[in-house]
Amino acid sequence: MTRVSDHSAAELARLVSTKQISAREACDAAFAQRDLVRAGPEHLNIFLGHDCDWSRESAERLQLNDSGDALPLAGVPVAIKDNIATLHLPTTCGSRLLDGYVSPFEATAVARLRRAGATIIGKTNLDEFGMGSSTEHSAFGATRNPWDPSRVPGGSSGGSAAAVAAGICRIALGSETGGSVRQPAAFCGVVGIKPTYGRVSRYGLVAYASSLDHIGVFGASVADAALGLQVIAGHDALDATSVNQQVPDWSDAPVTSVKGMTIGCPLEYFPATLDPAVRGRVMAAVDALRDAGAHIVDVSLPHTELAIPTYYIIAPAEASSNLSRYDGVRYGQRAAADGLGAMYEQTRARGLGAEVTRRILLGTFVLSAGYYDAYYRQAMRVRALIANDFTQLFNRGIDALITPTTPTPAFLLGAVSDPYAMYLSDIFTVTANLVGIPAMSVPVGQVGGLPVGAQIMTRHFDEARMIAIGSTIERAFGVTRSPVAS
Ligand code: GLN
Repeated sequence: MTRVSDHSAAELARLVSTKQISAREACDAAFAQRDLVRAGPEHLNIFLGHDCDWSRESAERLQLNDSGDALPLAGVPVAIKDNIATLHLPTTCGSRLLDGYVSPFEATAVARLRRAGATIIGKTNLDEFGMGSSTEHSAFGATRNPWDPSRVPGGSSGGSAAAVAAGICRIALGSETGGSVRQPAAFCGVVGIKPTYGRVSRYGLVAYASSLDHIGVFGASVADAALGLQVIAGHDALDATSVNQQVPDWSDAPVTSVKGMTIGCPLEYFPATLDPAVRGRVMAAVDALRDAGAHIVDVSLPHTELAIPTYYIIAPAEASSNLSRYDGVRYGQRAAADGLGAMYEQTRARGLGAEVTRRILLGTFVLSAGYYDAYYRQAMRVRALIANDFTQLFNRGIDALITPTTPTPAFLLGAVSDPYAMYLSDIFTVTANLVGIPAMSVPVGQVGGLPVGAQIMTRHFDEARMIAIGSTIERAFGVTRSPVAS
């Protein structure tokens, strides 16, 4: 049987389009790899929902056009983070409150994947409502890292990152509010792209913090991730923040030269406390870019240290408002209680986990009448300062920035119990969400047998340059596979 992971997504689509492999075979191959992974000594707990028969039937229904007008993802298996609405399969957001909830509509991104010929193979595990950096905050148990099952895959899109790292699929959707695609991509040794805010419709992405939320894409390679992004990007009238702008063709971006590009290394992202081994891997990527003809310059983003505090005011504020809809009346589980007030209380107390509750309390506090000016308004001002740091550099002719994606490789399950310490694992990623610029993580080798990622950020809507830089790094380091995928 063909191993799905042996073909890039584009190759597989070509093989399916020319009928050398059937979509059904491709789907079966993904499930075979998933079963192999599940049969391993440690259950990685990647999927929360799947229905093999439903996936196979949808693969069998794939209509191939005999005129050779190939569908870009014909028969390509794709996994979807479980906070992105799908028909038929539940959308739980990793929350007890939404256990068993099936959406009556599907996300635009999922509809576009299916229209492009993809087969949805399942819904992946996540930190509850996307709140976390390790997938340990899922109500349905943590996902484990395919490189080392005693470690976390990162989060919150840990299940999608692990699905790609375990060789089950080449493309998976995740979501990002502060790094939830890039951080798990780095921890799992795969590629993760967060596009420009507004580039991909959020319709059907369950809201956490709407001004920061994005749908992002994991790929086994830069080209896989770029192809997935190509299919889901573009204006959607169903999302008021979706931008009505032509999506360029990114198919040549992975082979575009970085010669003549000016790439900045922001000193705030290479602090003296950074693990020297992580720094070494990222500097090796910088050397590869220099060898490929890019100009490397040292730059500064002076407001960087304010990013985490700013994010942890704005994100909980928006979350406290967005999550007020889970009242036991409209969605999911309802607790039996006497009276309406008690029913609300019991539903939320039983349905929502500790981290989500902490965020709702914090968000309600910073938005309350007496504290709004001191916290929320202040955070919005600082957000503008952080954005201005980037604008200044881009206006000065800096085309892109390169940084580590995370300060450390994947940590052990249970090792980070202090919430603030957990928040710090997003220290290098939250800025791109606050500013809305595209950002990606690309593997740059390993430290102690664990993958490490470099992050690339570019101007708004300049995904093309980001993909070109990511591919140049990928060519220097090669694509590596986790032990379970090889
Ligand atoms: N870890 C961050 C948080 O908990 C980011 C999560 C995300 O991007 N969804 O908010």
